Formats: sequence, structure tokens, C-alpha cells
Amino acid sequence: MNDVSMNDLKKLKPCPYCGNTGLMLYKQNNGLFYVHCGRYLCDTKFEVYFTSKEECIKAWNENADLINGG
Ligand SMILES: [Zn+2]
Repeated sequence: MNDVSMNDLKKLKPCPYCGNTGLMLYKQNNGLFYVHCGRYLCDTKFEVYFTSKEECIKAWNENADLINGG
């Protein structure tokens, strides 16, 4: 149930650094989640790890809002 689906990816706001909408949400082997923008020359990795994908998505979106100034 805690695997990442397309539906989860759709909840992510675009990368606040480059506008990329094709972000990836990864689950590490230790079960923690993080967001990664794989766009060339951006390569932003959200260096905070969460035990649930919901928390990770929420935190990424809040961070994107902060960086976008709103
Ligand atoms: Zn990016």
C-alpha cells in the first residue's frame, strides 16, 4: 500500500527551481521517501526523508510554495 503510484506523482507541485512537472518520488530500501527532480542541470533532491509518502508529498508542496514566494 505504501508503494508510489502515478496518482501520487500527480499530487506533487512542479519543481520550484526549474518548473519540471516530471518529478519522481522514491522509496529507499530503508523505507523512507524523498522527491527528486531528474531534469538535466537541475537535479534537485529534496534532502529530507519521510516515513510516509503522504508526508513527503505534503512537505515538498509546502517547500515549493515557500520558494515560489507564496
Ligand atoms: Zn528541477
